[in-house]
Amino acid sequence: MKQRDFYLLHIIGDIEPEIRGLYKSEETRDRAALLLKKKVGDEDGIFQLDISFGRPFLPIPHVRAYSRAFFSEECEVCQGKGTIPCPYCEGEDLDKEPCYECNSKGTVPCPKCDGTGVYIGDC
Ligand SMILES: [Zn+2]
Ligand SMILES: [Zn+2]
Repeated sequence: MKQRDFYLLHIIGDIEPEIRGLYKSEETRDRAALLLKKKVGDEDGIFQLDISFGRPFLPIPHVRAYSRAFFSEECEVCQGKGTIPCPYCEGEDLDKEPCYECNSKGTVPCPKCDGTGVYIGDC
């Protein structure tokens, strides 16, 4: 069975790199990265660290840098607007037919950021 463990690698100047984890999923790890960036105020030195296990269970580390866009904190689903077009009516023909999904507003709160426009995970 293929297994992959998700960690964060935080390198601050000449200080010993700090490994955070283990996280339950890639998503949880990425949320932790956003929170860490918020805490330290700088995304430099924050890397993804995935450890996959080959046969016979030799851990293979993969280190990747995050993109700048990842740390922009703007929700990429709604582009920071907090709402997305209603998937039911797509915001069309609301004068003819009311939509109960969006209360005829044509938009619904973004499911990814819960309508905040900023995607930051739980503390
Ligand atoms: Zn609608
Ligand atoms: Zn959003």
